[in-house]
Amino acid sequence: PKFVYDFREGNRDLKDLLGGKGANLAEMTNLGLPVPPGFTITTEACRTFLESGEEPPALRDEVSAHLAALESEMGKRLGQADDPLLVSVRSGAKFSMPGMMDTVLNIGLSDASVAGLAAQAGDERFAWDSYRRLIQMFGKTVLDIDGDLFEEALEEVKRAKKAATDVELGADDLKKLVKRYKKIVADGAGREFPQDPREQMDLAVKAVFASWNGDRAKLYRRQERIPHDLGTAVTICSMVFGNLGPDSGTGVAFTRDPASGHQGVYGDYLQNAQGEDVVAGIRNTVALADLESVDKASYEQLMEIMATLENHYLDLCDIEFTIERGKLWMLQTRVGKRTAGAAFRIATQLVDQGLIDEAEALQRVNGAQLAQLMFPRFDEDATVEMIGRGIAASPGAAVGRAVFDSYTAIKWSRSGEKVILIRRETNPDDLDGMIAAEGILTSRGGKTSHAAVVARGMGKTCVCGAEELEVDTKQRRLTMAGGRVVEEGDTVSIDGSSGKVYLGEVPVVPSPVVEYFEGRMHAGADEADELVAAVHRIMAYADRVRRLRVRANADNAEDALRARRFGAQGIGLCRTEHMFLGERREMVEKLILADTDSEREQALKALLPLQKKDFVELFEAMDGLPVTVRLLDPPLHEFLPDITELSVRVALAESREDPNENDLRLLQAVHRLHEQNPMLGLRGVRLGLVIPGLFTMQVRAIAEAVAERKATKGDPRAEIMIPLVGTVQELEIVKDEAEQVISEVEAATGASLKLSLGTMIELPRAALTAGQIAEAAEFFSFGTNDLTQTVWGFSRDDVEASFFTAYLEKGIFGVSPFETIDRDGVGKLVADAVKAGRATRPELKLGVCGEHGGDPESVHFFHDVGLDYVSCSPFRIPVARLEAARAAA
Ligand code: ADP
Ligand code: MG
Ligand code: MG
Repeated sequence: PKFVYDFREGNRDLKDLLGGKGANLAEMTNLGLPVPPGFTITTEACRTFLESGEEPPALRDEVSAHLAALESEMGKRLGQADDPLLVSVRSGAKFSMPGMMDTVLNIGLSDASVAGLAAQAGDERFAWDSYRRLIQMFGKTVLDIDGDLFEEALEEVKRAKKAATDVELGADDLKKLVKRYKKIVADGAGREFPQDPREQMDLAVKAVFASWNGDRAKLYRRQERIPHDLGTAVTICSMVFGNLGPDSGTGVAFTRDPASGHQGVYGDYLQNAQGEDVVAGIRNTVALADLESVDKASYEQLMEIMATLENHYLDLCDIEFTIERGKLWMLQTRVGKRTAGAAFRIATQLVDQGLIDEAEALQRVNGAQLAQLMFPRFDEDATVEMIGRGIAASPGAAVGRAVFDSYTAIKWSRSGEKVILIRRETNPDDLDGMIAAEGILTSRGGKTSHAAVVARGMGKTCVCGAEELEVDTKQRRLTMAGGRVVEEGDTVSIDGSSGKVYLGEVPVVPSPVVEYFEGRMHAGADEADELVAAVHRIMAYADRVRRLRVRANADNAEDALRARRFGAQGIGLCRTEHMFLGERREMVEKLILADTDSEREQALKALLPLQKKDFVELFEAMDGLPVTVRLLDPPLHEFLPDITELSVRVALAESREDPNENDLRLLQAVHRLHEQNPMLGLRGVRLGLVIPGLFTMQVRAIAEAVAERKATKGDPRAEIMIPLVGTVQELEIVKDEAEQVISEVEAATGASLKLSLGTMIELPRAALTAGQIAEAAEFFSFGTNDLTQTVWGFSRDDVEASFFTAYLEKGIFGVSPFETIDRDGVGKLVADAVKAGRATRPELKLGVCGEHGGDPESVHFFHDVGLDYVSCSPFRIPVARLEAARAAA
């Protein structure tokens, strides 16, 4: 194979082979843009190197040939003493990856050629500045020497010279610095800094190859599910110099504003600087617009190039450029990152400009961005002091009083106080405090820390790893960078989308996007209108192209109505256990305590009208749309008092010699129903089979509610769902009884109820025998929460707080399987069950009602396996609509 591509030979479609950087440099070259000549070594060469530990034998010759061609094009040889060609060696994988080696500039400089460069440029300072940069970057990234050693040496030389910035250092200072740098290399690497330019280049190339398997790079790939065998490309690019004086400089720019999407001039420029100086923040940059007054010709050329790039890539691009003595050079471009709001606006702007069509617009946004736009947020106009910034671990805007331990968090929140739990880091003992808090702030840990994982799981706002804030849990206070302190009880605000931490209360404003979905959007600020208009249009495209229908998980009329406003096309899961709580609990207790048939019948009879009323309201709210009602699922003990509390009460009463008959019976029942492992115990269909009359009461309530709605000219469309079925026999028994009840109600009311009966597929055995189960079920709804739990053998209520952090850190999975469906395991069962079910009953209706129904990646999976609908919490419906469309487009 061919291992090396000249920039003129590549193009942007070759990212697999040339990496993102190499492919786009080639694309720009072929567009006729001013790119310094160069070539790219393929990922395939890297793969060979990683497999065998050696470069492919042909590589060396190919590189030599390309280097020779480059040298003759440039009219000078690499490192040539009197006029050296210099190059950069740049890493560039298909996906940009933190933790990989980045770039070494000025390769080719040596003790000999530094003088030649000085003479050619007529600038000694520049030459020595370039040389010290080479040794610094090479030492750090190729020879693995601690970068701080170089920084410290630089600082010392600056201090000795009383220089505020590096530009104030003269040639002599830089010569001294080079000497010190060389010593640092010799001491740190046990070898001299290589003087042979080709050796410099070869070592740098190898270092880039090897960095693919660095620990951080590997971890990042595991978490992001990037295959380990892609390898990285290496781009060799002839140097251009932004550090050649005031008519030179380097900059970064966006073709439009990555925050709002507006077209214009966005970027930073730094005179007399090289490479990363702009982003490193070592000196103050100027706004790109000011380049016009510094160098009008280059500025105008840059504007033209930016327009060319946008029209070519049909998207916002970000770029890196350098001006060398008035000549503009392009060093990088790629489709640029943007904020969530800008993504929606840019997508519609590009449609309006005729650059992309609606289907493409859908690919330019995603559900995660939409979800982000739906969180309430802090009022941007508020002037509250920002005191630190950490990692944006779980989005949202939370305000509360600072507490430093879980106990206080719980105590204060019980008394109606909003609190922010502040910890150095959290551990499973903090769980209750985290639940009680509005938000969580930690000073240590990253995106996979305990705090971050658990907060995301609970949908709670979290900022973690705010390192400049020192947390002292003993003294109950937090010390800011300047030494000021936040005491327990002070109000703080944390922004989980930006990672910002404020002292004081930042006013929270509802998201305009939610106001829009709720139908309450009033014309506010122009910014918001623009965003809402863009979201509106994208959602309209989405609804036109998606195949999956989207339903809501909702248990009451209020949620159902909201879900409808958000675009729900029915209810996929109505949990009836919520109808057994509150004041009805007593009736449920009676049912559980019933000793005789008649006592039990009495209890059920009391519950029937209440259930029926709930259903009537629900069917009215969802008139004309399907409503799947799940019969009682949780174990009965959940409806009884807590065993410890009750035991204490009974014991107290006994000590007072005043036993309470009812409490005693309750306690007996609690003991009788106690299970070691309730999630695998007496619940779902098992309850229906063991407690006579329970399921039939529920079926009757549904049937009568449907009849009542029909009588008042409503259009109820109820579906009855039996949970936790493991075998078709269970379903058949319940089904026979249900059909009996339904025909009784039909006979009594004279109405034809058209109720369908189906089941959840949430146990591995159900999925494995789906073909048999479909004989008795008119529909399947995949309960992927329980299915994930039972397939992995993970207790959903425990794992997130216990060992998931470790699993995420080790990269065993990049995201919890309860958040995104595990395609290979749980997903395979779903896919097989879909096939088997449809083979038995071609018209079988198929949906999913686990949390996964609103998760972007999972929605794509459910589209792929051919489900009819997904069902999720009302708030996630817009996200599901959008992702269903993206999956179909
Ligand atoms: P990263 O992926 O970290 O951005 P790059 O390879 O883009 O790494 O290079 C780092 C910096 O060096 C960038 O600012 C880039 O513009 C600059 N740079 C890279 N190659 C050259 C070159 N041949 N001439 C001048 N500057 C360069
Ligand atoms: Mg770059
Ligand atoms: Mg379940």
